[in-house]
Amino acid sequence: MLNNLKTAPAALEAPLVRAERAAAIAAVHAASVDSEARFPEEAMAALKAEKLLGIMVPASLGGEEAGVAEVVDVCFRLGRACSSTGMIYAMHQVKAACVVHHGMASAWHRDFMSRMIADQLLLASSTTEGKGGGNVRSSEAAVEQADGRIVLLRDASVISYGVQADAVVTTARRDADADASDQVLVVFDKKNYSLEKTGGWDTLGMRGTCSAGFSLKAVGAAEQIMPVPYGAIHSQSMVPTAHLMWSAVWAGIAAGAVERARKFMRKAQRAGGELPPGLPHFTQSLASLRSLRALIAATLNRYESIAHDPKALTAVDFQTAISLLKVDASELAVQTVMAAMRATGLSGYRNDSDVSVGRSLRDVLSSPIMINNDRILSSLSASTLLSEIPSSIRD
Ligand SMILES: Cc1cc2nc3c(=O)[nH]c(=O)nc-3n(C[C@H](O)[C@H](O)[C@H](O)COP(=O)(O)OP(=O)(O)OC[C@H]3O[C@@H](n4cnc5c(N)ncnc54)[C@H](O)[C@@H]3O)c2cc1C
Repeated sequence: MLNNLKTAPAALEAPLVRAERAAAIAAVHAASVDSEARFPEEAMAALKAEKLLGIMVPASLGGEEAGVAEVVDVCFRLGRACSSTGMIYAMHQVKAACVVHHGMASAWHRDFMSRMIADQLLLASSTTEGKGGGNVRSSEAAVEQADGRIVLLRDASVISYGVQADAVVTTARRDADADASDQVLVVFDKKNYSLEKTGGWDTLGMRGTCSAGFSLKAVGAAEQIMPVPYGAIHSQSMVPTAHLMWSAVWAGIAAGAVERARKFMRKAQRAGGELPPGLPHFTQSLASLRSLRALIAATLNRYESIAHDPKALTAVDFQTAISLLKVDASELAVQTVMAAMRATGLSGYRNDSDVSVGRSLRDVLSSPIMINNDRILSSLSASTLLSEIPSSIRD
């Protein structure tokens, strides 16, 4: 009988195809997410329904084993539709990449990865704490261990979507005697922790990321600590994926602004028959968007060519390039949106026009301070002073 025939579950469409559908929903709600500084719940429901949260999980655990390049594409599409949705997705995937790349040797983390797919878990990140500011390679709070149990009390100055997340992936000092840079990465399920709000998130932009401050109290099992020291995870996965995925979101924001500037140009030309006076700024916005996307693509290619080679990933040359990607991409993204704004003039400056660039500008201004460019450049200074100028740019 036909009814007894079992059909295999339909194969999922490519992540980018599913992302386009989620992005369309994100775009509809982007304005209210921004004005009400609320979590983009409609877009997140769509991302979960499209099963886009666990795409990096290996096939052996039921995942799609998507690569960083596919996630970068999704980040771009979402960033173009709604900056906060794009950045939430990027921050989630950075943590997912850390777990996927470094957690396979641990039964607890393998089980967690299976649940990432089955339950479409949303992972939040906690690195910023207390007085430490944006120095991710330094932790104050230490993991306390006794009888296989662990406790972590953390003054987390910022945890984006802390309230809505299903798990928090956090850095911490290895133990009370460890140096600030002797860190571990720990995965806590929602049932493991409580969050007490210590600060709000009334910001210029990226308002839907809901990145409030929290006092984090977590209790779990020792096996929830990632099996690899955080130092290795940081240089091999956390920094490369964060800088690539964040940059893709910023490029998406910039592309959205350029698209609105193009719309303005077309309308202005049709109305007056003459070339609009802001045209040179529009040309400039296109040129810097092109540079931004080329920079991301080139760095992504470079990352992918060495993604399975820890030695190459941690080499000074690559670490410098991936750090500079964040600095250069953020500056280019701001430059692009600013040029789009100048191209559109008052129409783009207004909040109530269909070519408004205001929200894009407010959102993209978070990019140079999200791990401050000054901090990145100053930490690069020592290594750049000591190393040779690479022949690729010297000769
Ligand atoms: C949208 C958004 C979402 C975020 N989400 C999260 C999250 O989910 N989890 C999380 O943990 N964090 C999150 N953060 C925080 C982020 O990771 C950084 O910690 C934060 O942006 C750093 O903020 P800061 O400027 O106060 O700190 P700092 O980096 O300490 O900078 C403070 C000031 O000191 C200057 N400065 C610092 N170091 C140097 C230096 N070496 N040389 C020269 N000047 C220096 C900077 O220019 C800056 O003016 C988020 C940030 C943003 C913008």
